[in-house]
Amino acid sequence: MELKILLRTLVFFLFVNSINSQQKFSKRAISKIKIEAEKLVEKDHKKTQVMVDKVFSFSELGFQENESSKYLTKILAKAGFDIDYGISNIPTAWTATWSQGNGPVISLGSDVDCIPKASQYPGVSYHKPIIEGAPGHGEGHNSGIPVNITAALAIQKIMKKYGLEGTLILWPGIAEELVASKAWYVRDGYFDDIDFCIFTHVGSNLGVSYGLARGTGLISVEYNFEGEAAHSAGAPWRGRSALDAAELMNIAWNYKREHLHPLKRSHSIFTDSGDQPNVVPSKASIWFYLRDITYEGIMDMYKDANNIAKGAALMTDTKFTSKIVGTAWPRHFNKVIAETMYSNIKKVGLPKWSEKDQILAKAVQKEVNSNTYSGLATKLSDLGKPSSVMVSGGSDDIGDISWKVPTVTLRFPSNIPGLQGHHWSNAIAMATPIAHKGATAGAKVVALTVIDFLNDKKLLNNAKDYFNNVQLKNTEYKPMISKDDPPPIYLNKEIMNMYRKELEKFYFDETKFDNYLEQLGIEYPTLKK
Ligand SMILES: [Zn+2]
Repeated sequence: MELKILLRTLVFFLFVNSINSQQKFSKRAISKIKIEAEKLVEKDHKKTQVMVDKVFSFSELGFQENESSKYLTKILAKAGFDIDYGISNIPTAWTATWSQGNGPVISLGSDVDCIPKASQYPGVSYHKPIIEGAPGHGEGHNSGIPVNITAALAIQKIMKKYGLEGTLILWPGIAEELVASKAWYVRDGYFDDIDFCIFTHVGSNLGVSYGLARGTGLISVEYNFEGEAAHSAGAPWRGRSALDAAELMNIAWNYKREHLHPLKRSHSIFTDSGDQPNVVPSKASIWFYLRDITYEGIMDMYKDANNIAKGAALMTDTKFTSKIVGTAWPRHFNKVIAETMYSNIKKVGLPKWSEKDQILAKAVQKEVNSNTYSGLATKLSDLGKPSSVMVSGGSDDIGDISWKVPTVTLRFPSNIPGLQGHHWSNAIAMATPIAHKGATAGAKVVALTVIDFLNDKKLLNNAKDYFNNVQLKNTEYKPMISKDDPPPIYLNKEIMNMYRKELEKFYFDETKFDNYLEQLGIEYPTLKK
């Protein structure tokens, strides 16, 4: 009997000891350190605001994020991060690395590109472009990297002070709207030595989820048809119209659409439809996004689209080539990181919105006939759990990274609920106190979550266990791009060249103005009379 008690005590002692050896600081000590980290983020609120406003004012489309990348990496370089420019042969892509000792390698990413034709004055509740037709942050990608930088700088201070060991690697989701960088980063080995990834994305609440995410993955393919030019009136019988082929492909795909499962989504635009009517178009192109909730479903659609392109070429006696210009796997997020993060979300809570913030939010919701008129979120969303019913929707190429290393996406409340997305209305909040407070809240959650992982080795082991034994149990990641597909870095160049000179006049000058609203002379909020 006594021997049994002795053995049990011994086992218990060994167990406690093994927990302690996994954690650098006790629960109580780490709680205090985390409170200190939260204060550091709060203290940097002004810096966060400047970054959010500055990137908003650059308004750069995918692959043309020159000013944004230059500006953001400068801040990180000044803080002692090593910058590697032009990763994956994408001129505006980079990694920023800072290391101390031998701990986990933690990747912090967020997007940075904006939306075509979404130029909009911030703080104004109705459509008022800064520059008519110009790009603008009509999704809110100007806020995510400022969230990560603010968090990283706080974490760095804490790591130095308390001797926590690890490596931080920040990076931008270049051209997220084209889903055209993250699969390339994975292919080119930038995630080979990463332990886990925290991705941040603007939202209208503070939230995180695990398991398969709502929405789809996609393949983005451009079909280029080639025929023969001729005088459209003088000798039309000698021409073979590439545009006919592209149009027939479009028509055939629209017939196909009837037979697609409702969870599948597809959309297309013509990227070349000829030059002028009196010349039979010798070249024409059509660009598709083909989306589904599974990789297999996406590849089925891709196969069907290739067949339809062949048919269109046969019908018109033209030729075609196709190229993959973007890919995104359906996203799967890590349970252990999400649960750790959610406990920190509950600690941080939603920002305190001012009456002005709420007045603006409600006015914008009314302006766009939103399904909600209740203003900004005042109640935290629940931890997102895998749903038994799949829901279709958008994609993000963080999906590819989520199949390479344990990953979550933190959504932080810098935008107004109930807007349609990819629209000028989504830009309204993005350089106002709403975005600034939401970004600070997001940075706190990132900082606290990273500190948890730096302190407790067990968490990372558990996250990897979920990744290897639950997530990868029935699914194998196969890249949709080949080892040779280049990133389509030529995209958006012409549009940016057209607007950059005009946009420069509106770049935020933090040396002269406190915030971007002040520089633009906007009374906050400005409502419709
Ligand atoms: Zn996005």
